[in-house]
This record gives sequence, structure tokens and C-alpha cells, in this order.
Amino acid sequence: MAYLDYNATSPVRAEAKLAARRALDIGGNASSVHALGRAARTIVEQARAHVAALAGARPENVVFTSGGTEANALALWGAVQGAAEAGARITRLFVSAVEHESVLANAAALTERMAGLRRETVPVTGEGVVELDFLRTALSQGKGRALVAIMAANNETGVVQPVAEAAELARSAGALLLVDAVQAAGKMAVPQADYVTLSAHKIGGPQGTGALVHRSDAPFAPAVLGGGQEHGRRAGTENLAGIAGFGAAAEAAPREPMPALRDRFETRLRHVAPDAIVFGERAARLANTSNFALPGVPAETALMALDLDGVMMSSGAACSSGKVKPSHVLAAMGVTPEIARSALRASFGWASAEADVDEAIASLAKLLARIRARVAA
Ligand code: PLP
Repeated sequence: MAYLDYNATSPVRAEAKLAARRALDIGGNASSVHALGRAARTIVEQARAHVAALAGARPENVVFTSGGTEANALALWGAVQGAAEAGARITRLFVSAVEHESVLANAAALTERMAGLRRETVPVTGEGVVELDFLRTALSQGKGRALVAIMAANNETGVVQPVAEAAELARSAGALLLVDAVQAAGKMAVPQADYVTLSAHKIGGPQGTGALVHRSDAPFAPAVLGGGQEHGRRAGTENLAGIAGFGAAAEAAPREPMPALRDRFETRLRHVAPDAIVFGERAARLANTSNFALPGVPAETALMALDLDGVMMSSGAACSSGKVKPSHVLAAMGVTPEIARSALRASFGWASAEADVDEAIASLAKLLARIRARVAA
């Protein structure tokens, strides 16, 4: 079996499993004052320190959530509502065209429900890189406080965004910046921003745990109210095992780019499929992600053939309620729906080996040979 779908989820690291199991054995509610509660609190705070170190942040600025989706939602709603409560209303929301659905959907809902809030899409180039000139002009021309959402690295293409430059633009315009670093963490340095979001299961931690990291002076109104956990920023009894696993994964996750299995994959891909199109090829990309199309081969056909050979990959399309939608990321890059329907994503991670690349390429070569033989017959 060859698993090439780390951007969907990563296998759980041994350290994370151990930490989660230990936490389950200990049990205890981190809010209780007795010995077991204190033991649980120690686990949570140790994990917070590891997640903070991964993000280059202070532990007190880390809020544990149920994952990247919730972290993005809390950041967007929390920023807009927090700013309004502080008397410095946000009236403009700039969202890059290639954000994850959790950012796009919450940004859309926010602009529908909050009077006086306008949303604008920041376009990307054909290589999938956010157009900073658009943002620069928009920020300098419009009036009113802005919130900008630009991800650190794209989940579909691996394209790395110019977040440091965006942060500078935002800072000089008095705007706030949200950076979804869910895919970037553990693969490159996590950028600094007013709000940064992380997810455990993309770095070898358990699913269902994530974090919002925010600057101390960034406005924030909590959207999940209740028992006052996480210093009132996200109520609910802490997911002790999940947080323990997240902390261990954050401690184990590399801070630097990993060996580029992607390059081995793409070199071999070109060999077996010279007409393959690699999306974002000329842009800076995560060393673990390759999004490519085999023109004329529908993604579902390729995924089924790969799966039969024990090779697991994703298509470049999102499947929701039984309908396959061509990817909004590829559409924003100007890729035609026809080519987008052939898009596949190979993504690697901490347990990937060169053999995984070779198995995937062998399977693709077999499929292409079958298709060519059928066409020739
Ligand atoms: N943001 C990005 C860029 C992602 O790739 C994902 C998951 O695929 C998320 C957010 C959502 O994270 P989670 O699955 O933890 O909700």
C-alpha cells in the first residue's frame, strides 16, 4: 500500500498515539482542582507550549479548537465581532480566491449576516499565487478597517503564498490578517499574523483537534460560550487526548522543509506521462504536494485504478453531496473545467518513502499503457 494523501490527513505519529493514550489513561477534567484535574491541566499546558513553539507564538495566545475548520471560523467571527465590540468595526473583508472552504464559507456567511461588511476576493495568478498588487491597491483605495485572509500554503496545489509581504501591506494599512497555516505547519516555518490557524491531523496528530493562535492585541470575541475554558475564548471541556496528541505531534513536526519526494514524483511522472500538467509548477510550493492533470484521463478513472493497486491519492475536485465539483482553486488559476476534471493530488508526509513514489508511478504507467492500447486498438 502506498499512501499519498497526507494533505487530506496524515497517519498519526507514534509519539502522538502514545501521548493520547496516556492522556486517556489519566483522564481528569483540566478544570478540576483535584489531583486528577491538575494532571489533566499539566497535559493541556504542555501541549500548548509545544503548539506555541511550532507557531513561534506565546502559549497564552494558543486557543485549542476542534480542528482547522473551527479555528478559521472562530478567527473570522471573533475578529469581526471583537473589533465591533471594541469600537473599531471591520467593514471590509478580503479573502483570497484559493482559501479553504472553511474560510470561504464563514467569510460568505459573515458578509451576509453582518450589516455594513463587504467582501472582496483577492485573485491569484495562473500559478496560484495571490495577487499582492490587487491587495495593495484595494487596501490603499478603500475606506474602513479591513480583515485579510490569505493562507500560508494551499491544500490542493501546495503553492506557498507571499504572506510576509501581505502582513506588511496589512500592517501599513491598519488591517488585520488571518493566515490559515493548516497545511504549512510542519512543512515550513509558520508565518506570523494577527490570527493563525492550525490542525493536528495534518502534522501527524489526531483528527478533531486544532488551534487558533492570535496576537494579544488582535480583537477577539468568543463565538463558543459556556464554561469559560481556554480563558473564555473557546468554551467546552478540553479534548484531553486530542490535545495531548496534538502537542506531541507539534513537538515532533519538523520546522524546516522536508525532503522533496514531490520532485522525485514529478520527474518520474514526466517520464511516464510527458503531457502531464503540473499546477503551480513555477511557483514556490510545499515540498510535499504535487497537483497534476493527465489530460483525457478523468480523475475518478485514475483514482479507481490507483486504488486497485493499493495507491491512495485524491482528485483535485471536491465531492460534496454526491456531486463532483471542479476545484475552485484550479478555476481561480484559470484551469479549464475539462482539465480540472483530470486533476489528481499526490501529497507526502512524515512516513512517506521513495517506494511510495515508485509504486504510484508504476500504477499510473500501467493505467496510461492500458488507455493508450485501447486508443490504438
Ligand atoms: N484549512 C486548510 C488549508 C485545510 O487543508 C484544512 C483541511 O483540509 C482545513 C483548513 C480544515 O482543517 P480540519 O480538517 O482540521 O477541520
